[in-house]
Amino acid sequence: MKNKRKILITLALCALIIIYGSYFIKNQKKLAIEQFRTSEKQLIKEIKQEASENPSHSLVESTQDDSDMFLMVPTDSQATMIKDVQEDMAKLADSLIKNKDKATPTKTVLSAKVKNTQQNVTFYEYEKKQYDWSKEKKKWEESTQPLKEKTLINQLTGNKLTLGDIFINQQNLSKLSRNIQEELLAAAKDSKKDIEKILALPQLLATQTDFTYGDSKITIPFHQKNAYINTYTINYEQVGRFLNPDFISSHYLKETPIETVVPQSKVVALTFDDGPSDKTTPAILAILKKKKTPATFFMLGQQVEKFPDLVKTIADDGHELANHSYSHPKLTDLSIEDARQQINRTQAAIFKASGVLPEYVRPPYGSFNYETAVAIGLPLINWSVDSLDWKTKDSKKIDTEIKTTIGADSIILMHDIHQETADALEKLITDLQKDGYRFVTISDLLQTTPKPLTVYYSSTNRQDIPNQ
Ligand SMILES: [Zn+2]
Repeated sequence: MKNKRKILITLALCALIIIYGSYFIKNQKKLAIEQFRTSEKQLIKEIKQEASENPSHSLVESTQDDSDMFLMVPTDSQATMIKDVQEDMAKLADSLIKNKDKATPTKTVLSAKVKNTQQNVTFYEYEKKQYDWSKEKKKWEESTQPLKEKTLINQLTGNKLTLGDIFINQQNLSKLSRNIQEELLAAAKDSKKDIEKILALPQLLATQTDFTYGDSKITIPFHQKNAYINTYTINYEQVGRFLNPDFISSHYLKETPIETVVPQSKVVALTFDDGPSDKTTPAILAILKKKKTPATFFMLGQQVEKFPDLVKTIADDGHELANHSYSHPKLTDLSIEDARQQINRTQAAIFKASGVLPEYVRPPYGSFNYETAVAIGLPLINWSVDSLDWKTKDSKKIDTEIKTTIGADSIILMHDIHQETADALEKLITDLQKDGYRFVTISDLLQTTPKPLTVYYSSTNRQDIPNQ
């Protein structure tokens, strides 16, 4: 009986302890939460207070997955947030939230600081101030960390500094892209093996904002997987005439030499498209050799791959080699990437066959727009005289067509894939020479350095291709 009572009392005591204990723990938890909430409110209040005391910034709050971010976005003289900096900060905030340890409550203040300014450019760098809630110490622990990201703002436009700002226009950048290809080929141990990877490097584009900008050079990263090179550095010293004086010290600037076209009497260029063909090109080459007449061949990459020896012969005979796409599509119907492939595959094929990297492109059907011209990145050569050989396939009519439409500085379009063209050629050259015409390659006809984003119809008729 006595024992039973003892057990009962003990049980009752235990129950009491458990009930009180759990109540106590619950209460403690509640207290801790309340303490956290109060301190959180206080911290946010302080952050906002500090932000309001900073007149050249606006505070943007972003709450995602319980991560509180406060962006101190710099403002311009009209107290408007600088849009491109705000965008970069939002991106930065997203990546910080993604990489954050979700178990600890945090508040993060992201701020942009003007690191320095340099000739119309403001450099912003970023700093992260993070508050982590320590459960043990029951307080916010603060840490500050500079971030590696930067934003460069063109003070004249208020937008991010672009390659187009520094190098004036896309024409200059396309020319620089080509120069880079030539430089890498010259330095390559086995250029024919490396040609595809060199051509595959992304083009320099006027809209590009991703680069490291210094006061004597600029470094451009190539982010592509397995890129031939990861970065390319352009020293201002070497590219003086491509630089914009608004951003680059006058010390580096060089004037563009003025090139003039001297009107030549009766100097014309024969051009042959769509080949080479093993059936007709050799006959055409034999006539050109006999008549000591240079010409320019706009070749299809797929034909070049079939007849590389013929391509080598064309080059050895002193003719000019040029690019007419890989498989003759209308480039304006293709995606930019596909259009570029058409050009690059052909550049690579011609280079492998002959060691020549063509300088010109004739787009199939003569059709182009600004986007394809950028993708091509080389001067476009169309024509002023169409022999219509592709249509008439009649050597007499070819002869008449050319003779009745020829001018003093014509570019003459023919195709080295038609027998009738080969048949017409010898008499045509003889007659035109008698008439005082002299035949030259495209390079000799144009006289001046041809420019990308320009289409040439004859030596005097050239048009810049505008971005519209
Ligand atoms: Zn064609």
